[in-house]
Amino acid sequence: MENMKTGQAVIVKHTGSHYLLSQLPTWKVFSAVIRGKLRLQTSRATNPVAVGDRVKYEVSLDESGQIKDDAAITEVLSRKNYLIRKATNLSRQSHVIAANIDMAYLLVTLDFPKTKWPFIDRFLVTCEAYNIPIKILMNKIDLYSNDEREGIDYFENIYRGAGYIIEEISTWKNIGIDKIREEIHQDNKLCLFSGVSGVGKSSLIKALDPSLDPVIGKMSLSHMQGKHTTTFYEMHPLSGGGYIIDTPGIRGFGLYDLKSERISTYFPEMLRYMDNCKYMPCTHTHEPGCAVKKALKEGLISAERYNSYLGMLEDEKKYR
Ligand code: GDP
Ligand code: ZN
Repeated sequence: MENMKTGQAVIVKHTGSHYLLSQLPTWKVFSAVIRGKLRLQTSRATNPVAVGDRVKYEVSLDESGQIKDDAAITEVLSRKNYLIRKATNLSRQSHVIAANIDMAYLLVTLDFPKTKWPFIDRFLVTCEAYNIPIKILMNKIDLYSNDEREGIDYFENIYRGAGYIIEEISTWKNIGIDKIREEIHQDNKLCLFSGVSGVGKSSLIKALDPSLDPVIGKMSLSHMQGKHTTTFYEMHPLSGGGYIIDTPGIRGFGLYDLKSERISTYFPEMLRYMDNCKYMPCTHTHEPGCAVKKALKEGLISAERYNSYLGMLEDEKKYR
């Protein structure tokens, strides 16, 4: 007679047909498949279940109580948030990168490499739209002496002014790293690391937990091999508590399923003024009596951020 056991676990990896699950905080991974139909939370997503999803499963045990076969995922519990990107550039389908994220860390560097502002703003807007807490980490701060901080200060003023937290870090000089590690340990957070290639993501993860070095290094390499390899995201336990997900090489954070009218509400600094716009809805582009444009003229909203906003509006038109 078959002995069934049911339980709850978290998806820690997806490898095509199989999922790896673990009950947290104890890291003990086992394999599972989806059986039957699951209620899909994200329409048009290529993956119904993503890393970070909490699921119910059932598994059959042999006479000695050992797991006999793959577990079967029977239900996906509702998500507190998720991060999404377009499946491919022109696709109307989307891919869920991860779910139930406690903190997204966006690594940026000003010069080596130069992180493009539209990339930053797209990421921030996506996080705002999907309720993901975010912090900006300005890496390689060791490269700037006190009288070379002009660009750094300019950048930080704009983003702090908009309402974001920025921490200056250096993985080389061990600046700001302990604070991040502490933050992740606290409440065993599930954190996501993002940033363009070369900003120092692997270096940071290695600095946070040296035991993750070979794992992350191998992963980043495998993601470099051509655009057509499917990207599988993976959760790693951080020694001392907490979990991280590395997202190498993500370019097209889709403003997915976001309505154009809503985009400006994901700019915290625009949100502050838009209630006073004369016309509702207001796109803050040409309307008379627009409070956002007024704030822009008065320097209360940065021109760079506003231009990112216009760029996003344009892109939305193109794909519609
Ligand atoms: P990734 O592509 O985001 O994973 O970036 P890597 O971790 O591979 O780092 C890219 C390059 O930046 C490497 O040459 C690192 O040594 C260098 N790098 C990483 N962190 C720092 C830092 O804090 N300061 C400086 N100056 N360089 C760094
Ligand atoms: Zn307006």
